[in-house]
Amino acid sequence: MNKIVGKIKNFLLELFFPIFCLGCRREGVYLCQDCKAILEISEFQYCLCGKNPLKINLELNKYGKCNKCSDKKLSGLYFALPYKESALTRKLIHQFKYQPYIKDLAKTLALLLAEHFLISGSNKEDVWRDSILIPIPLDKKKLKNRGYNQAEELAKELFKILKVPVFSDILIKIKTTLSQVELSGKEREQNLKNAFAINPVRNQISNGVKKSFDFFRGKKIFLVDDVYTTGSTMEECANILKKAGAKQVWGIVIAREG
Ligand SMILES: [Zn+2]
Ligand SMILES: [Zn+2]
Repeated sequence: MNKIVGKIKNFLLELFFPIFCLGCRREGVYLCQDCKAILEISEFQYCLCGKNPLKINLELNKYGKCNKCSDKKLSGLYFALPYKESALTRKLIHQFKYQPYIKDLAKTLALLLAEHFLISGSNKEDVWRDSILIPIPLDKKKLKNRGYNQAEELAKELFKILKVPVFSDILIKIKTTLSQVELSGKEREQNLKNAFAINPVRNQISNGVKKSFDFFRGKKIFLVDDVYTTGSTMEECANILKKAGAKQVWGIVIAREG
């Protein structure tokens, strides 16, 4: 019965809101093959330096960092696309997060990441072993406005590709933050201070002693978000997760700025 309702719903949605390619308005898909071919999906991994990041060979390096950014808490970053250069990339991400709120774009965007994993040689079993995916949480107000957390939607689609489990209730946002866009590096850090925490429900209590975070021990965590700009959000979350016992914390985003 639910299947029929779902089919009718999809039929009506497509009737009133037909799917168009965001690049060329061709009907049927959000990103047609021709427009996808224009996007330059990254074949490499780059370090976390804000300026002139270095290409990293993960066959030779354990982490996705160079000497200059080695003190970062994040172990490295996977991203499919450079953010600034392509109007289409910006459009894909914008419509995923803002009106008309195309939640379904998560599928299209996750496939771009899948292609990045494939062509950058990251589709190896040992990259994803003992790993979990954690979407960067949204604060309640934003979640209410948007109706979904775009990072969580993306993580759910990545689960289907990577078979790495998603845990959306571990990291929580406990403070409403200002939009990072207008802020300087220092202000961003201040803005994010104490903004995230480990969900207290995830702390285990045994014999009256709080044995927090055993869950993370030995695990490799992949934080999932839509865009990486200065990296301060990921850095803050990686710090919390590492203090909680996570072995490594990596980032996965659709696009990287800079
Ligand atoms: Zn197109
Ligand atoms: Zn670097």
